[in-house]
Amino acid sequence: MNTILTIAGSDPSGGAGVQADIKTIHRLGAHAATAVTVVTAQSSQGLQAVFPVPGPWIEKQVEAVLSDVTPQAVKIGMLKTLEAVRAVCSLIERHRLPHVVLDPVLRASAGGRLLDEEAVKPFLEELVPRVHVVTPNIDEAALLTGRPVATPGEAEEAAGVLKGLGPDVVVTGGHLPGACVDILCHAGGVERFHGNRLEAPFAHGSGCVFSSALAAGLGRGAGLRAATARAREVAREALNAGYALGNDWGVVHPLGVARFPGVNRFEERGS
Ligand code: PLP
Repeated sequence: MNTILTIAGSDPSGGAGVQADIKTIHRLGAHAATAVTVVTAQSSQGLQAVFPVPGPWIEKQVEAVLSDVTPQAVKIGMLKTLEAVRAVCSLIERHRLPHVVLDPVLRASAGGRLLDEEAVKPFLEELVPRVHVVTPNIDEAALLTGRPVATPGEAEEAAGVLKGLGPDVVVTGGHLPGACVDILCHAGGVERFHGNRLEAPFAHGSGCVFSSALAAGLGRGAGLRAATARAREVAREALNAGYALGNDWGVVHPLGVARFPGVNRFEERGS
């Protein structure tokens, strides 16, 4: 069975983070191995506390997985500290991790900063250039590039700036006004994926679902274009199946669409 390794934070609500990644990866027919980078305490009422797992402990978890299993792809989610950013850079280098998809989680949907201020520059200068694909939403693309990102054109420009640092880029456009447009920027050029706007109020976890579905696709051998198209479908289905949770928000449901088994669709589409 394919194994996808997710290196990400824990969300006790079960909606985002490593919990969302596990559901998504299993939905796509792969096994999810996990290394927890941060333990958050959060609910629909807000982000209450964050405990960063020390860098050497992130490394120990990943190395325990690698001692037994060779993952076909890796998803990186929330990292809080400079130490965590450097630990992950070192793991990518030392183990030549394959198909590394970085979801640049900067702020919690519950409110509050997730990546420490002092870690932002090393995140951009040391981590982003080492990964294969980075998947910011428009707010993250704006924060990372220091540019406004409020139109598809601006999303393309931000994608180009991030591509200049090395990795391929998908800017997810779910929060763009008007139609949803995701931008893929890779060596072959820039492509736009258009979709109708979903009436999906329960979106906590959607970025996690997209990035782990992308990693699962790349791990199955799909090309970046096909893996992006499929990850969009998976994220949209999870949004459509989302449900209210707690007092103030709702979560996506990566397993809520079992009527679309989805497992063999990369082969059908080719890469
Ligand atoms: N990872 C963790 C641990 C989180 O708490 C959050 C958001 O609160 C995320 C990732 C990102 O969530 P989303 O997929 O909604 O962007």
